[in-house]
Amino acid sequence: MKLHIKNNFTTELPADSSEINIPRQVEQACYSFVLPKKPSNPSLIHASEEVASSLGLSQEDIFSTEFLNIFSGNTIYSGTKPYALGYAGHQFGNWAGQLGDGRAINLTEVFHENKSYTLQLKGAGPTPYSRTADGFAVLRSSIREYLCAEAMHYLGVPTTRSLSLMLSGDQVLRDVLYNGNPAYEKGAIVCRVAPSFIRFGSFELFASREDLVNLRLLADFTIKHHFHHIKVEGVEKYLAFFQEVTQNTLKMIVEWQRVGFVHGVMNTDNMSIHGITIDYGPYGWLEDYNSNWTPNTTDNQHKRYRFGNQPEIALWNLYQLANALYPLINDAKPLEAILNAYASDYEKEYLNMMQNKLGLQDKLDDDLFLVNRLTELLEKEEIDMTIFFRNLSNVNKENSVSESFDTIRDAFYNEKDLNETILKDWYDWFEIYNFRINEQTQSDLDRKDKMNAVNPKYVLRNYMTQLCIDDADKGDYSLLNELFEMLKKPYDEQLDFQKWFAKRPDWARDKVGCSMLSCSS
Ligand code: AMP
Ligand code: MG
Repeated sequence: MKLHIKNNFTTELPADSSEINIPRQVEQACYSFVLPKKPSNPSLIHASEEVASSLGLSQEDIFSTEFLNIFSGNTIYSGTKPYALGYAGHQFGNWAGQLGDGRAINLTEVFHENKSYTLQLKGAGPTPYSRTADGFAVLRSSIREYLCAEAMHYLGVPTTRSLSLMLSGDQVLRDVLYNGNPAYEKGAIVCRVAPSFIRFGSFELFASREDLVNLRLLADFTIKHHFHHIKVEGVEKYLAFFQEVTQNTLKMIVEWQRVGFVHGVMNTDNMSIHGITIDYGPYGWLEDYNSNWTPNTTDNQHKRYRFGNQPEIALWNLYQLANALYPLINDAKPLEAILNAYASDYEKEYLNMMQNKLGLQDKLDDDLFLVNRLTELLEKEEIDMTIFFRNLSNVNKENSVSESFDTIRDAFYNEKDLNETILKDWYDWFEIYNFRINEQTQSDLDRKDKMNAVNPKYVLRNYMTQLCIDDADKGDYSLLNELFEMLKKPYDEQLDFQKWFAKRPDWARDKVGCSMLSCSS
């Protein structure tokens, strides 16, 4: 197994002067060198061939003992020195101080075909940033992270990738619902891949300590290696950087709203500087369209991270990043201008995305009414988001309003909801929708193709992951393999997988692990 390794991060940025692996405050350093804990009996559950190949690894490599050892943390790849990142963050709106990679350990950077990647093990043992926790991860949450990151990638949503999923062979104690019922679960390790794992909170750490030297070093490093097209210098450089992070974050959120993904813990330490989805914890997928929904039971009271609030929270987080970068810029006005543009930019991008979901090719400003009325109607009853949009592409130009409605009837969870008033509301909506699609020159077939390219047929529904976890706990990974294959082509019909194009079964409605998740992982 041959990796083209680079160690830019650890070569160019300051390390913690201590290598003692106990929880502590780490000052004036971007990271701490730390070794993964040796797993007692590692075994490979799954690896992504595509991610491996992007790193220059073959299928043979994946099944090698070296792969097993390196990506379970059992041995260290020669020429590398693993490290955990320091960062801080705002959690649920409150300043949380130093956080850092409490159970993530970066192995190295890899360079392949003109691209650089950072490889990171999650769940490979304690670091100086572990605070009171153990540094490990359980199989349940590792499967959730492993599968979802890949599913998001194939949906076209910016995300970290998953290289491998391993069992450590060790047991990990977890209280799933934080209700005083801890139990042992299988320990697991995911190897994640991203350009870097630098977060908004990485900058907040130094700003909060008024450590201008390291704030500047980290910003300069990030721009040099990951935003190298920014050629201006001085204050302009940092502004261009912030502008780009804002744009990338906005684009990521629009994609989340498109596919119905709810992150669940949008703390600033979980916001990647690259605008990619990171840290798959208690995330979930909208089944019935409900902008108030969050899968995270830890956030049940205020629902800060509910589906409909994600765009606003991203902006809130960008304010924190702006505050952190301020000492490099010393002028609030241009930062405010970028932040102020977010709301109108988001509205524009959101409308454009929804017009695409509706198959509206020649776009009108008035479509906003159609979109807003639609989301209002979708909220009223329990209506499956994925099935609704996928089936909407079956509407034909000649259809009457009731025929159009019949194409999406299956998306309703309760037939009995369909009383006269509701039907009338929907017929009124289809009246406008039918009119709009009749105005367009594109054929029904063209529209259907375009709609099906943005409205997935298959997403990683919450109950599907839970079924997969239940099987995997018993050592049966066939469902994991099946879902992984299916989610590679979420927009294709894939008739062999038709059974997964179905509404959430009733048993999963309020089940722990399906609609209810906590941060325990
Ligand atoms: P999260 O909400 O998962 O993004 O985690 C927030 C912070 O807690 C990060 O600093 C994590 O590294 C840390 N953390 C979460 N779980 C563990 C764990 N089992 N052991 C050590 N640190 C953890
Ligand atoms: Mg995190």
